[in-house]
Amino acid sequence: MIEKAVILKKGKEESLQRFHPWIFSGAIQRIEGKPEEGDVVTVFTNDRKFIARGHVQVGSIAVRVLTFKDEPIDRQFWERRIATAYDLRERTGISSREDNTTYRLVHGEGDNLPGLIIDIYGDTAVMQAHSVGMHVNRMDIAEAVKKCLGDKIKNIYYKSDTTLPYKADINKDNGYIMGGNASNISTEYGLKFHIDWLRGQKTGFFVDQRENRALLEKYAKGRKLLNMFCYTGGFSIYAMRGGAEIVHSVDSSSKAIDLTNANAELNFPGDTRHTAYAEDAFDYLDRMGNNYNLIILDPPAFAKHRDSLRNALIGYRRLNAKAIEKIQPGGILFTFSCSQVVSKENFRTAVFTAAAMAKRNVRILHQLTQPADHPVSIYHPEGEYLKGLVLYVE
Ligand code: SAH
Repeated sequence: MIEKAVILKKGKEESLQRFHPWIFSGAIQRIEGKPEEGDVVTVFTNDRKFIARGHVQVGSIAVRVLTFKDEPIDRQFWERRIATAYDLRERTGISSREDNTTYRLVHGEGDNLPGLIIDIYGDTAVMQAHSVGMHVNRMDIAEAVKKCLGDKIKNIYYKSDTTLPYKADINKDNGYIMGGNASNISTEYGLKFHIDWLRGQKTGFFVDQRENRALLEKYAKGRKLLNMFCYTGGFSIYAMRGGAEIVHSVDSSSKAIDLTNANAELNFPGDTRHTAYAEDAFDYLDRMGNNYNLIILDPPAFAKHRDSLRNALIGYRRLNAKAIEKIQPGGILFTFSCSQVVSKENFRTAVFTAAAMAKRNVRILHQLTQPADHPVSIYHPEGEYLKGLVLYVE
């Protein structure tokens, strides 16, 4: 049998020698053995020296590298990778805390598993494939998760219908690979959340804001808070625990508002400090008064691709200008961007311009990013996507 192989053009192995995990189609001279999308291929330099092994895919990224060692991609491979990922969460204390059952076990390239996301909610793992290769290997990966986490996991839900390339000719149905009788309540730093992995966005919850929510809690005491783009209400619930005087949550999705209300009720039953509104962000910001002194802006990614960068930056500027204009003197603004193509500098410039437009004196208190269970491979800086600024507005 001919090995399925990719032979690079001369000199195109350079980025791989620096362990960058993507091979662009333009770097390829020849493909051997007729691999199909999702197959594992061996990558050779032009003079036929082994350099990597990875999943082949259709598009400008042609191969996503799984290993730079000459090792087989078999069950033991997946077991080692999942065990290494779990080890990081254990050693950083995220998965071992009594008061926390919500964390990301696998963060794609950041865990040397490009195209794979696994989030843990209590005794359920929600698995998401962003590449056909990870979809093809999903059963081995699920077995490895079972083996690594043992009794801690009773259910594995596979959810990839929206994340796989839409043209790929594969069966993308969502469903349980293991178990199915799951309680959907998970704990994050002692607070409880309903997680809707069946119908919710992403894997059901935005795990990446955990540390930033914990920081917000410290600033919440006695404040009047607006949580814009609240989704499941994460920031609102932390603010309530932190002693906020008023908590208003806003999201354009009425499903998100139902979830936020349910989570507020789950943690603080009958608490009248919280109200949620299903409304468009820009409409709400236009009509609201100057009553808030703590505002969170955590919008969805305004730019999914490089060509929408310019419009995205205009969006961030408009949004932040409205909030900075209306926040009370001495107010604190938590503002975020989760667009991968928007750099830290881009985002800061957009917010800087917004401050100047609003003619307020603004200082940066904190610069925020994603937490340790969303690690960034030092060889793949593109993996850093979450950016946040905490601003003090005089
Ligand atoms: N802050 C949340 C995550 C926000 S995700 C958390 O910590 O979990 C982004 C949210 O923005 C989604 O829930 C989406 O429904 C909402 N959204 C998208 N467009 C919107 C708009 N124009 N106005 C208000 N909400 C919007």
